[in-house]
Amino acid sequence: MRPSGKLHIGNWLGALTNMVDLQDDYTCIYAAVDVHALTTDDGGSPAALRESVHEMVLDWLAAGIDPKRSTVFVQSAVPEVMVLHTLLSMVTPLGWLLRVPTFKDKVRQMEATEESVGYGLVGYPVLMTSDIILYKADTVPVGEDQVPHIELAREIVRRFNFRYGETFPEPQAKLTEVPLVVGLDGQSKMSKTLHNHVELAISPEETKKKLLSAFTDPERLRKSDPGRPWVCNVYALHKYFTPGQTDEIYQQCTQGTRGCVDCKGILADGVNARLAELRERRRDLEKHPDYVQDVLLDGAKKAAEIARATLEEVQEKMGLSRASLKGS
Ligand code: ADP
Repeated sequence: MRPSGKLHIGNWLGALTNMVDLQDDYTCIYAAVDVHALTTDDGGSPAALRESVHEMVLDWLAAGIDPKRSTVFVQSAVPEVMVLHTLLSMVTPLGWLLRVPTFKDKVRQMEATEESVGYGLVGYPVLMTSDIILYKADTVPVGEDQVPHIELAREIVRRFNFRYGETFPEPQAKLTEVPLVVGLDGQSKMSKTLHNHVELAISPEETKKKLLSAFTDPERLRKSDPGRPWVCNVYALHKYFTPGQTDEIYQQCTQGTRGCVDCKGILADGVNARLAELRERRRDLEKHPDYVQDVLLDGAKKAAEIARATLEEVQEKMGLSRASLKGS
């Protein structure tokens, strides 16, 4: 996951819940991909980037990522990933990268052109492929927006394996039941960049304030107007945060007996109840910044061992020198 600071409920429902659950059945490796954050200039200062990593990892641990079972580290602490990125870029046609929808979206968001953005942004999915296959991972918990990247990773793997012999498994995206959470604007994906998000680590009062600003059915002007829950994002969120009450809310909305403000208040209570434990754990973890650093250091050591072995195999297969890896 790219470190963009505190995570929001879209990240949580779309990816983080799966990251936590998969720990029961898989050997999991989770990286805060700080080099990816540099592909756009919204990463801010070097200090802000480090802070973003820290904040995100706090959310991971608070959500239930267990460093005793999973390897948790920062991408740049295992620089082998950048070597593999360079090598994979030799088997990746530029056309594949220029066609990726997220590339076009990013260029538009940055109000840039395909010619003016950095070379690193075009290569974003190659670096992501490198993140995945360096550890020979077969399963990647992501939200729906990341599926094109995983598809591309599979194509790169197929090409590499065809040219140099079977080396990497083809990774599969693992989606949650909620692979796309819509933002408070009710229109686009919930995203930090679009400022339509609700962060996990905010107070119950802030949560309520944010949710009260959410757009609902635009055709419902008065409380007594029958609403259309099927077009309302607040109702969509109710399904995950107040599952016991959705039938009742559906009826009250369609019959025009409960207003949107009330409905958003109930949602806020549900969100606050569901996140209470996570928030408490996060507050505890915030008191021990050294613990987070220790987790990341330990994770980097474990990740580096796997990374070195894979890179050695790749360099061997590609006819490159392995001398630099000796003794490391
Ligand atoms: P953002 O769009 O807020 O910058 P990222 O792109 O860093 O979030 O996403 C981190 C992870 O969270 C990815 O796996 C992504 O697919 C998932 N994710 C992000 N936003 C959403 C959303 N609105 N709904 C579902 N999953 C999401």
